[in-house]
Amino acid sequence: MASLTFYGGVGEIGGNKILVQDNDTRIFLDFGMGFDRKGDFYEEFLQPRTNNGLKDLMELGIVPKLDGIYREDFLEIGGIEDVINEIAGSDSSLWMSDVKSYDEADKRGGNPFVQGILISHGHLDHFQFISLLDERIPVYCSSISKAIIEATEDIGKGGFESEFLSAGKRKIGKLGATAFFPGAYKIDTEDVIREYRILQQYQKIRNIEVRTFPVDHSVPGAVAFLIRTSDAKTIVYTGDMRFHGTRGDLTRKFQDSLKGSKPDALITEGTRIDEDTLDSEADVKQDCVKLISDAKGLAMVGFAWKDITRYQTMKEVAKETGRILVISPKLAYIISKLKGFADLGLKDVSAEDNVKVYLKRKGSMLYSKADYVKSKYDAGYSVI
Ligand SMILES: [Zn+2]
Repeated sequence: MASLTFYGGVGEIGGNKILVQDNDTRIFLDFGMGFDRKGDFYEEFLQPRTNNGLKDLMELGIVPKLDGIYREDFLEIGGIEDVINEIAGSDSSLWMSDVKSYDEADKRGGNPFVQGILISHGHLDHFQFISLLDERIPVYCSSISKAIIEATEDIGKGGFESEFLSAGKRKIGKLGATAFFPGAYKIDTEDVIREYRILQQYQKIRNIEVRTFPVDHSVPGAVAFLIRTSDAKTIVYTGDMRFHGTRGDLTRKFQDSLKGSKPDALITEGTRIDEDTLDSEADVKQDCVKLISDAKGLAMVGFAWKDITRYQTMKEVAKETGRILVISPKLAYIISKLKGFADLGLKDVSAEDNVKVYLKRKGSMLYSKADYVKSKYDAGYSVI
């Protein structure tokens, strides 16, 4: 019998982690971070411990305590058994976990706990915590979402919470003979690559049939899912979607495709579900043209850096008001990652006549390229 278990995303904005179980087939719909739940404990400099973050997040109820899904090195770092008495004395709680690893759960049940994580779109509240998962669990997403996730990894501050595509598998090592403290323990990392599968219109994950539909959202590449289980139950998961954006036609097409599907469960999310005033991107453009035409001097505009629709709107606003749109290197970088997707209608920032990138003066203060090589995205937007 099919079942649904919600490990996040209920009574909160985002944080969706929905387990669909059909006999011994299990898939997660999204594996995101609940901003509110994490924000109860962490902000700015107060963050989970660098090499023990998963335990902190599990203890605080920010991620579920589940066997067979998390990275082995976060449950018990390689080589710790040999040194635990020396470094931890009788207290091994910092290093050991009572949650079973992918391999342990695999041996016990004869198959991995989950067969895939289906990501609806490239917002952190829907994909952030795939960084904690065993790298052998396949991540399914659209090719645009994969490019966005990759850009998020490149731009992020690093560390275990942004290891989305590649992961630095940790193990205990020792400093070499020429080090200041030869033989002292340290954490070594070995690069491993996560398995990504690009979502097709239809795929079968063991017992579970999954149909994918593109929908409009404030980040491109968003999809909704229609899932059929082996006991003929139909589950619709919309992910995040909107009707009022420039690609509202995609959402309407998805809505039309659902006709006659008679879902047993419809899972959706709305931050403005109780509002009946209709906004549109065209209204945003019109209002901004008016405001900016009336403004003297510099006009500042704030929007989320993955919101490509808003970027395109602001580019048009700048053109109509005779201004230059100056964007952040982050936005320029994601544009360079997405310009190959013809549907999005993006071209490189260097080919735009009224868009420029703002680079902070730093290092030598001479705008030398050498000052920007540490942040791939700072210098990289125009050369990729
Ligand atoms: Zn979203």
